[in-house]
Amino acid sequence: SSFTYQFDTPTYKGTSTVPTGLFINGKFVEPLQKGTIEVLNPVNGKVITSVAAGTAADIDIAAQAARKAYKERWGLKVPGVQRGRMLSKLADLLQANVDEFSALEALDVGKTFDAARNSTFSTIAALRYYAGWADKIQGKTIETNEKKLAYTRHEPIGVVGAIIPWNFPLAMLSWKIGPALAAGNAVILKPSELTPLTALRLCPLFVEAGFPDGVINIVNGYGSTAGQALSEHMAVDKIAFTGSTLTGRKIMEAAAKTNLKKVTLELGGKSPSVIFDDVDLEQTVKWVSHGIFLNHGQACTASSRIFVQAGIYDKFLKAFTEHTLSLKVGDPFEPDTYQGPQVSQTQFERIMGYIKSGKEDGATVHTGGERHGNEGYFIQPTIFTECKPSMKIVQEEIFGPVAAIIKFTTEEEAVEQANNTLYGLACSVFTRDIDRAIRVAHSIEAGTAWINCHNSTELSVPFGGFKQSGIGRELGEYALEHYTNVKAVHVNI
Ligand code: NAD
Repeated sequence: SSFTYQFDTPTYKGTSTVPTGLFINGKFVEPLQKGTIEVLNPVNGKVITSVAAGTAADIDIAAQAARKAYKERWGLKVPGVQRGRMLSKLADLLQANVDEFSALEALDVGKTFDAARNSTFSTIAALRYYAGWADKIQGKTIETNEKKLAYTRHEPIGVVGAIIPWNFPLAMLSWKIGPALAAGNAVILKPSELTPLTALRLCPLFVEAGFPDGVINIVNGYGSTAGQALSEHMAVDKIAFTGSTLTGRKIMEAAAKTNLKKVTLELGGKSPSVIFDDVDLEQTVKWVSHGIFLNHGQACTASSRIFVQAGIYDKFLKAFTEHTLSLKVGDPFEPDTYQGPQVSQTQFERIMGYIKSGKEDGATVHTGGERHGNEGYFIQPTIFTECKPSMKIVQEEIFGPVAAIIKFTTEEEAVEQANNTLYGLACSVFTRDIDRAIRVAHSIEAGTAWINCHNSTELSVPFGGFKQSGIGRELGEYALEHYTNVKAVHVNI
């Protein structure tokens, strides 16, 4: 079965037909146990459609199919150059339908059509990037003594379970399946139950790109059923996860209790931006705004703690406030909208709860702080000042358009406060003093340090967390390490 959606919007007109079953072994099937996921439109909370929800029994079928495909039709049987060609073809097919996919993603997540297009183009680029790696995964020859030769092979791991969040559904999919397939693994991907549409629409393209049946399986379902079953499955050799720190813990636990499958985790964050007195104010405001308000604050790297040096504090606050007030909140398909609704009622309530807690804890709402409009999940871009390190809005990940601004005097103080968090995903430093920029970038405990920019991710550069923000790295050549097993071969001459 499938559903068809007619887009008749100022920015996109067209039709999209999306299959709604589970994609297992190259075909759409119905779940063994009847179950569905309702897909809601975040603009008004109304049901768009429902899609099939898989459970443990479906995950089991997908795992057996993936294992069989891996052994018989994939893995070491298919040369890297061919795997690369299929990934490249997939990128081409996506590119040919870029507007349709972007419209679906905008509808599903509530992001603007324009932002969704950027995300689809970045997905295409990620598939191409890993297509390029598929025939360049190489081992080493190691000198031992004259009687022996040793070399390493980077073999695929086998069956990879990928579990992804709702904030960038297509891009997150490509960050997982790109390196997994390039390295020769079979994949079972479980999208977020909040945003199942674009992954489903992609399934026919996997077939058209030439991937053998069973090499990529897309099984929608809820986290506590399908997600948990994937993490526990004995025939799954690795879980690649992006999502919350709480779920990350459950996945590690499931892996530890079953087959000790390998686990990589990309988790939450509470990333600091540190702004010194000597900055280019206009550029800094632009980047910090992109840092916190990109994707309505629903980015793991969001610059949610903004430390501003006393000498520029007033000027920065004024310019940042003016810029924030200029961000138009509204329908994602209107051409001048910057920010659409948050993804769901739950997220909306969670964020409003944090705003309430900030007020109760004594922080000042400098601008925003209320819902926008009367329906849907819209929230005003919000700036808090007078924030203290112990407040919940300074310690916990809000995952919404809420910035906490904190004044500082010395570099040491800024670094100490920036590091006062359980998380370590990213940070940014704004200054024209190159020595200080590098010193501070090296002192903050985070997997990514941006200097004079924020949320500027590159596919060739590794991405991941220190501390409780994760384990392992995605993107770049580094990601491939997590999708291969190194075998050492000793040859007695
Ligand atoms: P979430 O942890 O609730 O869900 C993520 C995925 O895990 C979903 O597919 C969900 O169904 C699944 N899941 C839930 N419970 C599970 C379980 N017990 N076993 C297996 N799978 C389970 O997170 P979310 O709300 O979808 O996403 C927001 C979070 O993701 C934020 O904390 C954010 O920081 C993080 N995130 C991190 C990155 C990164 O790269 N570090 C990127 C995007 C989002």
